[in-house]
Amino acid sequence: MRKLAMVVVVAFVAVIWAAQARAQSVVPITLVKAGRLLDPRTGNVISPAAVLIEGNKIKRVGPLSQIGAPADAKTVDLGDATLLPGLIDSHTHLLLDVVLPAEAERARRDNGTFVPALLLAIAESPNKRVLLGAQHAREYLESGITTVRNLGHSGIDGDTELRDAIKAGRVPGPRILASGRKLITRGSYIQSLNPALADAILQQEFLLIDGADRAREAVRQNEFQNVDVIKVTADENLTVTELAAVVEEAHREHLKVAVHAVDKTSIQTAIDAGADSIEHGNDVTDEQLKQMRDKGIFLDLTPTSYGHFFTRIFEGTIAESLTLYAKRLEADERNRRRFNDLAQQVLESEFVHGFEVSDTQLYDSLVQRVLKSGVKFAAGTDMCWHYPGGTCGEAATSRFPTLHEAGMSSLDVIRAITTNAAEMLGWQDRIGAIEPGKLADLVAVSGDPIADIHELERVRFVMKDGQVVRNDLPNHNGGGLR
Ligand SMILES: [Zn+2]
Repeated sequence: MRKLAMVVVVAFVAVIWAAQARAQSVVPITLVKAGRLLDPRTGNVISPAAVLIEGNKIKRVGPLSQIGAPADAKTVDLGDATLLPGLIDSHTHLLLDVVLPAEAERARRDNGTFVPALLLAIAESPNKRVLLGAQHAREYLESGITTVRNLGHSGIDGDTELRDAIKAGRVPGPRILASGRKLITRGSYIQSLNPALADAILQQEFLLIDGADRAREAVRQNEFQNVDVIKVTADENLTVTELAAVVEEAHREHLKVAVHAVDKTSIQTAIDAGADSIEHGNDVTDEQLKQMRDKGIFLDLTPTSYGHFFTRIFEGTIAESLTLYAKRLEADERNRRRFNDLAQQVLESEFVHGFEVSDTQLYDSLVQRVLKSGVKFAAGTDMCWHYPGGTCGEAATSRFPTLHEAGMSSLDVIRAITTNAAEMLGWQDRIGAIEPGKLADLVAVSGDPIADIHELERVRFVMKDGQVVRNDLPNHNGGGLR
């Protein structure tokens, strides 16, 4: 009797073990079906299309009739929607939230629209900043941006910590390539600091380059924080020798170097020192584009202020204040109406700042020259601005269609934020395309993004790492997960 009980117990335990082992080894399989799938690399459209996903990776892609999904695959049916690879913002600052100062305030300061908010951010608690970054990261992901390259303005380790928290599943967000602190020369960015405290303040946000040895040391300090990329701001104070030292030290650790360079001299410094990408590049000449093409240096376009973006932000902030003020005056109906009317007038007004007009003109010419030159290009938003009435992700995705307005084809715009961006980041083996072996980062829009590039601002379905983040498409056969 005792022997029999023993046999029963052993058999029971064996069954449980086997079940557990099976549960652990089962990788979830998902079949995503959609009316269309756009391959940015070739421009080809598969219709109707299907993507078979095993765990967090894409296993098969093709016409629905040929995909051959196993019977136990979970199906996500997106109806007529168009599938695209998850979007990549290759230049952003998730831990910064610049509120554009009122025009009167700007006129009374020498340091423009950016520096007062930057100083405030540096002085604020790093914990507060990283939580702000977490909010922006979630908003980015919800808008369809599944990977970002965060190029500075994160304190000492804000972006590397946010990256790791997202990786560990603590907070939702895109995968992040983090640069840690920006390498700058003395005199960039911030003036008029208290001289007794200046170095201590600057070190919260930047690493100073002063000679080739300190340039190498700065890279090593960032390596110690486990960064994914090195960001340098080039200006007339930075020498080719210093930047070449940065590039050599970074490449030794297989890190790419992204160089902020706007004027001709800085762009030439970046080219001569062998940078991997030039950020912004506003004043690049045709000759420099040719040199960049021959050396394989990427131009990362950042059309942030294209199309009166700052006017929209500025008007939004004023309207927001007026509406709040009107609310406070609710006892007086007449005043409330007056302020609401004023807010409306501000939103409808058509005033345009000079620098935005010139930036729009600059982009029209820059984009066309870039396309003609054959230089490799990608695009980033340079987002770091408080965007009244919208999320940070909505502000970011509003920037990509402006490249089309500046003369880039819809397909090239999509390449700039998928396949091209992946190559610039050095992650072309992982992201940027819907291909077998790549991470399962997908987005879907309900229209045709080639016919209307503004579809990129209306992403309706987001999947990152094989997990559905968001699905606002109509429910098909119970496939509409949320
Ligand atoms: Zn930037």
